[in-house]
Amino acid sequence: MPDSVHSSATLARRGLLFILSSPSGAGKTTISRMLLEADDEIRLSVSATTRPPRPGEVDGVHYHFVSDADFDRMVEEDDFYEWAPVFGHRYGTPKGHIRNALKEGQDFLFDIDWQGTQQLYQKDQQDVVRVFILPPSIDELRRRLESRATDAADVIDSRMERARAEISHWDAYDYVVINDDVQACFAKVSQILAAERMKRQRQTGLIPFVRELMS
Ligand code: 5GP
Repeated sequence: MPDSVHSSATLARRGLLFILSSPSGAGKTTISRMLLEADDEIRLSVSATTRPPRPGEVDGVHYHFVSDADFDRMVEEDDFYEWAPVFGHRYGTPKGHIRNALKEGQDFLFDIDWQGTQQLYQKDQQDVVRVFILPPSIDELRRRLESRATDAADVIDSRMERARAEISHWDAYDYVVINDDVQACFAKVSQILAAERMKRQRQTGLIPFVRELMS
């Protein structure tokens, strides 16, 4: 891109909060990983949690592991965009560095469920982009859950139940992508991200350029 106005303007945009949600088994984790590997303008938002680290998990990389008292204090000080109890522990998205990084054009990827999505959207409608990934069919979802795990039938049934509940909230998303082929799904999610980055309201760097053209 030889035009200096254009290239600097491309950089000077506001970042966005890119949410991927799906029922488990629909491929969200794979798509998230592909996106993070392929695109260095987006990074994962690191949540805080009261859950103890699992083997191999690193503080500040996978999560910020905090005590119950620390979490209480963060809630009191309004340090979270959103937080929720999940499986007996609390998880939340700290506002901290996200606010400043957004101004500098950094995008964040969120792998959160519909409740987290709703809360995040209520806090920041301008920057949030909500993408829901669907399996091609309920039968295919069951087949994927059965093939990837050694779970007993009743565990799979309860995962299917949770999946149905998650899918019932698909109408609270901006985009829906069906994952029948992981490469095709990744390409579609990447296209959504590319288009959202070009939205006029994110082009802070173009404002002086356009003003100059119009004067
Ligand atoms: P895990 O303990 O297996 O890492 O995560 C358990 C669940 O917590 C996952 O379903 C994940 O989406 C959810 N989770 C992780 N971080 C956050 C967060 O910051 N906010 C919300 N609402 N859920 C989260």
